[in-house]
Amino acid sequence: MISKKMQDAFNKQINEEMYSSYLYLSMAAYFAALSFPGFAQWMKAQSQEEWVHAMKFYNHIVERGGEVELFAIKEPKKKWESPLNAFEDSLNHEKHISGCIDKLMDLSIEEKDYASRSLLTWFVDEQVEEEASVGEVVDKLKLIGVHDHLLLMLDKEMGQRGKK
Ligand code: MG
Repeated sequence: MISKKMQDAFNKQINEEMYSSYLYLSMAAYFAALSFPGFAQWMKAQSQEEWVHAMKFYNHIVERGGEVELFAIKEPKKKWESPLNAFEDSLNHEKHISGCIDKLMDLSIEEKDYASRSLLTWFVDEQVEEEASVGEVVDKLKLIGVHDHLLLMLDKEMGQRGKK
């Protein structure tokens, strides 16, 4: 049985992950409107991954006899100044999520909840990957700068996500 404290914290995290999914879907729509199908595809895949993250917490609560509580999802931003600006926002968001996961890990240690610690270890590793992959795109976009033809090449590369 999961503790009430841990359950409540995981329910909040379901909402964080659902918001992440919404945010990346909004970015996908932004890129689609700009006619960057590759970036849009990458963001759609990212959005789906976040939904899977939310479900990992959902399933964990259910499997341990807890009660799932779903809260309203905040409306995400719709427009960004540039592709770089969108990916910078994405990186900042992932850093925020990493902070949330760290706090959940602190709580699981406090609560001596080994099952939750095991789940959270996966998320700790996942966040390292998330920050690295988004950070790499931010770096590439900075290098590209105003060279539009390179931006189109990167868009093509990004569109390969989920196709390999
Ligand atoms: Mg996530």
